[in-house]
Amino acid sequence: MTGRYGGGQGRRHGGGGGHGGGRGGGRGGGGRRPEPEPIRGVRDDARLSDELLRMDGASYGRYKSLKGDWDFGDFTLTVQRVQSDPFAPPSRVRVLVPDTGIPKSAWGDPVRRRATADYLGRRARRLLRGSLLKIDTGGQEVIERSSCQLTDGGIDLRIGIDLPGHGRRIDGRTAERELCRTLPDLVDDLDWEEIDTEEATAFADTVADTVALRSQLEERRLVAFVADGAVLPRRSGVSDEPMARGAVPFEAPESLRVSVDLPHRGTVSGMGVPEGITLIVGGGFHGKSTLLHALERGVYDHVPGDGRELVVTRDDAVKIRAEEGRGVERVDVSPFVRNLPTGADTSDFRTENASGSTSQAANICEAVEAGSHTLLVDEDSTATNLMIRDERMQALVHGDREPLVPFIDLVRPLYRDHGVSTVLVMGGSGDYFDVADQVIMLDAYHPHDVTEKARALAHERVDADFTLPRARVVAPASVDDTARGRGRIKRRDMDVLVYGENDVDVRAIEQFADPGQITGAGLALRELVGGRHLDGTRTLAEALDSLEEALDRRGVTLLGADFGGDYVLPRRFEIAAVLNRLRSLRVDDLR
Ligand code: ADP
Ligand code: MG
Repeated sequence: MTGRYGGGQGRRHGGGGGHGGGRGGGRGGGGRRPEPEPIRGVRDDARLSDELLRMDGASYGRYKSLKGDWDFGDFTLTVQRVQSDPFAPPSRVRVLVPDTGIPKSAWGDPVRRRATADYLGRRARRLLRGSLLKIDTGGQEVIERSSCQLTDGGIDLRIGIDLPGHGRRIDGRTAERELCRTLPDLVDDLDWEEIDTEEATAFADTVADTVALRSQLEERRLVAFVADGAVLPRRSGVSDEPMARGAVPFEAPESLRVSVDLPHRGTVSGMGVPEGITLIVGGGFHGKSTLLHALERGVYDHVPGDGRELVVTRDDAVKIRAEEGRGVERVDVSPFVRNLPTGADTSDFRTENASGSTSQAANICEAVEAGSHTLLVDEDSTATNLMIRDERMQALVHGDREPLVPFIDLVRPLYRDHGVSTVLVMGGSGDYFDVADQVIMLDAYHPHDVTEKARALAHERVDADFTLPRARVVAPASVDDTARGRGRIKRRDMDVLVYGENDVDVRAIEQFADPGQITGAGLALRELVGGRHLDGTRTLAEALDSLEEALDRRGVTLLGADFGGDYVLPRRFEIAAVLNRLRSLRVDDLR
């Protein structure tokens, strides 16, 4: 042995390592000081406590000797990654508790497993308030995440800790308190005996009801359901919590009211939004966008008390918007764009800088390509010239001068020929009366069925043709995060995903409900290539099917066994959306 701490011995530990850190990373650092050897011999909680107290005042780098497993008796603490200074991103530990007494009823099926894990993660966050230990948990949605996973009867936590220092010296006392007291207390408090099991069960029941409700939509030929009594508005533009005071609860119009039986809550009633084309109209500030936003989030399950627990949308619903400036890689936008002034082939459209209308056309075609059968559109974020063209404009700018076929001419064939429904908010033009199957008017937040009145105002309209966009076969190398970059996958706020050399602008991907999903989508791109789902012969949709199947089987941690951070399960549509915004993306073939 070269001394307990191994510091300054000029040796780097070779074997065993590989915890945490990025793939292939962490080994470089040519000029760096060598890492201390991991502490050897008995590695139990008493020893950890000893070592931490002994390290007090030592140089910060000594913390690295903590790496590896520590046996606490009823759980194992694994120090996976250690920050190199007090200002670096937090260190990462994993806590594996094989048995916390959770009964099988709480984890036996995938829905309850996800819900109970989420509940316990939130409890852990509350218990850790004020401590240096941090656990990633969700906001209003309940989505599978890496930070808290249930094993059969036990729990697996990934926790971040800012290892304490006095400047560049170790604060061993505080570290000892956090790792050797706070952490075991946390494990004790997560034991099923200590849990308010009624609350935990109600939490899982709520999620199970939401899932059951969503699963009934298709057979009822509905694209969405909004329960009577639901609270849709949020506290503010920056808070996703329910409006605290003055919210008008949702009340379905009689003609659209349906009732549904749920396993736990029993019979509930609310507004069923039928398949086809649904128009949401109403004056400004009457709640149109708020309703649509609730439908966007209705693809996810919400926590009890959110107000949208029984607001559900088909899980293939995709919010569509204009996104000027995005890149587009060989997308077949020919249904929307006939002939461009540049003479480019619009069934094989590529640009580094899309316009408002072409970006929205690409967003629609890509959503359909990825398998969406439900489009959600809000006038607030669309390109007007892709939505409508009135008679006077047609008289002035003749057909052959206008390459765009507006959405209004394609929305019916999309449904009739391809089963793609649309829910559209449009307060500024009555043109869509011509094509709507149902029209819902919001009046001071109260919905009314005004379909008959709107129909009386409708005109005849000749539809265009919507042929399905050609399927793309992506070049896997163009999606490889390590191709030129260093395999970095990192999120910057809700704005940017750093993926290898790409800075992907994700601001327009509105159905990311959790920051961790952005990281998750980056990891999913890596897995698309690494897991050979994108293999150079499959179409993008087939590759997404294949990845989704693997995720169903293996769970979200499939994405990041070697990843030392938090991530959350993304949907296939957001994975595709990120892929479509990679500036390095190349498509080899169109079918
Ligand atoms: P629109 O899209 O029709 O212009 P918004 O959906 O943006 O209107 O809503 C306008 C305002 O009304 C927002 O501040 C929103 O929070 C609030 N609001 C929406 N729905 C309700 C409701 N059911 N009860 C109370 N306030 C609401
Ligand atoms: Mg609006």
